[in-house]
Amino acid sequence: MNAQSDPKNYIENLWFPIDQVFIGGAFVPPLGGQTHPLYDPSTGQQVGVIARGDAQDIDRAVKAAHAGFSGPAPASDSPPWGQMSAQARGRVLFAIAAQIKQHSEDLARLEAIDVGKPLSQARADVAAMARYFEFYGGAADKVMGETIPYQRGYTVYTLREALGVTGHIVPWNYPMQIIGRSVGASLAMGNCCVVKPAEQACLTVLALAGLTVAAGLPPGALNIVPGLGVEAGAALAAHREIAHVSFTGSVDTGKQVQAAASTHVASVTLELGGKSPQIIFADADLERAADFLLRAGIQNAGQTCSASSRLLVAEQVHEKVSAMMAERYRALRAGPALENFDLGPLISTQQRARVGDFLSLAKDLHVLAEGQLAKDIPAQGYYQPPVLLHCDDPHHTLAQEEIFGPVQLVIPFTDEAQAIDIANGTRYGLVAAVWTRDGDRQLRMARALRAGQVFLNNYGAGGGVELPFGGVGESGHGREKGFEALYGFSALKTVAAHHGTHDDT
Ligand code: NAD
Repeated sequence: MNAQSDPKNYIENLWFPIDQVFIGGAFVPPLGGQTHPLYDPSTGQQVGVIARGDAQDIDRAVKAAHAGFSGPAPASDSPPWGQMSAQARGRVLFAIAAQIKQHSEDLARLEAIDVGKPLSQARADVAAMARYFEFYGGAADKVMGETIPYQRGYTVYTLREALGVTGHIVPWNYPMQIIGRSVGASLAMGNCCVVKPAEQACLTVLALAGLTVAAGLPPGALNIVPGLGVEAGAALAAHREIAHVSFTGSVDTGKQVQAAASTHVASVTLELGGKSPQIIFADADLERAADFLLRAGIQNAGQTCSASSRLLVAEQVHEKVSAMMAERYRALRAGPALENFDLGPLISTQQRARVGDFLSLAKDLHVLAEGQLAKDIPAQGYYQPPVLLHCDDPHHTLAQEEIFGPVQLVIPFTDEAQAIDIANGTRYGLVAAVWTRDGDRQLRMARALRAGQVFLNNYGAGGGVELPFGGVGESGHGREKGFEALYGFSALKTVAAHHGTHDDT
């Protein structure tokens, strides 16, 4: 089936059902029998209906996950996931990665249709998801405790143990990458997972379900309940048998999830929004920096938590950088995801209206440049041309709030101290980058910036699944990615044995 020629037909003939939930290793209809319309952001056309699971389905999924964690062995010979050796878990995660690679082109096309993401970016997301499962497959049998020197007559050591059942609430902007980093790490630790993908984009998450069966993941280890946030999402966050909730999404929803989980004292990882700065000093390699400045702003049409929406530029080079960026902006084209333009559409009409509302507050800002919409794009698609703005006021609403669209601000600064003040002057603290050839300044800035990740003379380091990621302030707390994530999905147990000494006898 050619997705390019007819996305609707492609979705109607998928190899897995999208109007069902995935529980206990099988697709089953949601108990309430409800569905939710699914739109292709590139055309604005409804391309199908997805399952609208609710609290009853979440409860079923949590029970299946508990059975997968500690129940009797399923029909097959292998033990339930929670009782498998770390080495055996690692092998299954490698097999999942292999399945993802084998189906990479289909997954990329699904993500492009579902999220409106240019095909090349969707392909990069598939590769990242496979890499997460490989990384955590390799890490599964390398999580070790410590021995602790203590009083004579004691031996003390720590064990890192699985938590039990973990909940994963996922946004629409990077479903595959976020599943890879949170479910991959949680499964590696021996937990069983219940996932609530976003109602706007859950096709690749459901596709993954089928691939995990083929890879030999035992029933109950992974359960997926698409549904609305206020129904299935809220039910998952509040479920008393969930030990940990990994939430990625907006600040307001994150606060609600944390409050719901606190009623039964479940731990929570919150990966929230950002207003991430790139700081360009006068001695920077501007030619090299320019493409990073641009890409970090327009990737996925700016709908990226770690998007760099503020460019803080030293006043000596501010005009030059603005001109370099404006030239690049004018060359940008937004168009249908499967045709692989620089940008695709936004995810929904609501998101486009939200970006439009922010831009209506930009009347006092100077427009440095705008990109274009490609010729003959579908009239009902949710397109937004990228916009580069000059802003002298770091307290302006557009310089403070996460727009989540293809809008970047150029903000001039006079010296290092002012650059730090502006960079740290929002409620967020997710990512920051510094462009300078001065080594002392690089190290000073890395310490001074309030962010979970700081990049020196690059932005994002190519995504690196190995690199712990997360925020400070209202960008959230807890870390995912890298080895660090495994600690968040485990509980540390201290064992102290009193055995006495030979002197005691
Ligand atoms: P959102 O908060 O609206 O939704 C995220 C998820 O939460 C969805 O699955 C949604 O259905 C669910 N949800 C909604 N209401 C809920 C409730 N009351 N209880 C439980 N779950 C609920 O966010 P969004 O619009 O989908 O995503 C955009 C936001 O996500 C942006 O702010 C972005 O910065 C952030 N984000 C952060 C990261 C990160 O790693 N820090 C990554 C991607 C996106």
